[in-house]
Amino acid sequence: LVIPAWQEFTSKMKYIFESCTDIRTGHVATYIPQLAREDPDRWGMSICTIDGQRYSLGDCKIPFCLQSISKAFNYAIVASDIGADDLHSFVGHEPSGRLYNEICLDSSGKPHNPLINAGAIIVTSLLKKGLPLADRYDFVRQEYVKLAAGGYVGFNNAVFLSERDSADRNYALSYYMKENKCFPDGILSLREELDFYFQLCSLETTCESAAVMAATLANGGVCPLTNERCIDSRPCRDVLSLMYSCGMYDYSGQFAFHVGLPAKSGVSGGMVVVVPNLMGICLWSPALDKMGNSCRGVEFCQKLIETFNFHNYDSL
Ligand code: GLU
Repeated sequence: LVIPAWQEFTSKMKYIFESCTDIRTGHVATYIPQLAREDPDRWGMSICTIDGQRYSLGDCKIPFCLQSISKAFNYAIVASDIGADDLHSFVGHEPSGRLYNEICLDSSGKPHNPLINAGAIIVTSLLKKGLPLADRYDFVRQEYVKLAAGGYVGFNNAVFLSERDSADRNYALSYYMKENKCFPDGILSLREELDFYFQLCSLETTCESAAVMAATLANGGVCPLTNERCIDSRPCRDVLSLMYSCGMYDYSGQFAFHVGLPAKSGVSGGMVVVVPNLMGICLWSPALDKMGNSCRGVEFCQKLIETFNFHNYDSL
């Protein structure tokens, strides 16, 4: 067992989880009504180790939308499908130092990285390019289900419709990228490609399932519960590198410094954290801080690092 003293470990995790319940700062996202109506007091946590030990607390079975968390998994799926070199001929690997939805490109005219909107929209356009949209959607959802060992992966149509209705920025960004020839040849209309992007933001899951998805990344791309390879080993390493440097919006550098773990958050208040070769963690609490990360989620990670030596450089 990678964590032999399981009782002791889980009681410490419970203590950390409960100590974060008191945090009442932050605000839920309000740019669409479906997120504005979320209860800021929701708080769930789930872990899954690379040898399949699982532990969950709080609202761990309540579905929430993946939103930007999907960007990390979509990247890993495309990179496994077409290869990192092909993918990165369209998108860079550098933190942008700018807002996640800013209209800007790097010095070679590409989106800075796959975890900001610009890069994620390009990655989505590469996802099974050439197939009908319905097949592309089915493919991604099936891959998510595989990553989650058959766990819950649903779709929130109300979120999708609202996202599409409030998408001026993503449209502007996409037209700007079209003008700058950022997209691959042979894509559908921008309207269809953006629908697909919003649909993937609207996929929903639970802490329990997302912890398994994160554990698959912690395990080098092989799902610990099914032993099925879901992500090739190189794309798995690559997505963890990107999560480490770009996964937490404009807090990414500070998170890498203080917590030292690859993570990706989304505007729904969800967050996946990977402890490589050990476990995947999913945290969910909708109240966000100024950077757009879950207040309780970030605090949980800070306390995690005070309690255990999980920081990337703790082993030195
Ligand atoms: N649907 C959001 C957008 O594309 C994603 C927000 C997020 O989770 O960062 O703007």
